[in-house]
Amino acid sequence: MHFMEKQTIPDRLHTFHVTRRCHECSEEALGRCPDCRLSLCQEHFPKQQHSPCAEKQMRLAQLQVCYVCGTQVYPDQWSLSKTSHYVDQFSCKGCGRYICDELHTQHKSEEVIITREGLRGHRYQYTIRYCDLCAPFHHVGGLTGLTRVAMIIVTIVAAIFFYFHP
Ligand SMILES: [Zn+2]
Ligand SMILES: [Zn+2]
Ligand SMILES: [Zn+2]
Ligand SMILES: [Zn+2]
Repeated sequence: MHFMEKQTIPDRLHTFHVTRRCHECSEEALGRCPDCRLSLCQEHFPKQQHSPCAEKQMRLAQLQVCYVCGTQVYPDQWSLSKTSHYVDQFSCKGCGRYICDELHTQHKSEEVIITREGLRGHRYQYTIRYCDLCAPFHHVGGLTGLTRVAMIIVTIVAAIFFYFHP
């Protein structure tokens, strides 16, 4: 089956796939870090294992605390296999602030995004969290979602105002 698939891929694509290497080592790159967009192998996919994100994690360690109770959180990502990757940012999708898992994640769900890289389809599973404040609005994308809607209305009102009052 796999062999048959390979036969149908044009040479150009195949070469592109073969030459893509992990940013940290010479292994074949399997996934892409959702933060820095670097191509990484299974071993280097976790944030602590590749340079730009590991440094960023270190700098942010003091700030990566639940905004409600101050518990330190550890945003992480890992690969379960060559094609399935998990990402948990430990932050509220609505307001973007860090929240702890035990007490202040009010609403938790998963979002799966399938991307195609080279010959493979990659499955990225994101843990989606909402804090107490944003949980009631999670269907519109939390507080930032509401702000965006409000901003659009303000822009339209302003446009109408300036149209009639040059
Ligand atoms: Zn690597
Ligand atoms: Zn990264
Ligand atoms: Zn908390
Ligand atoms: Zn929130």
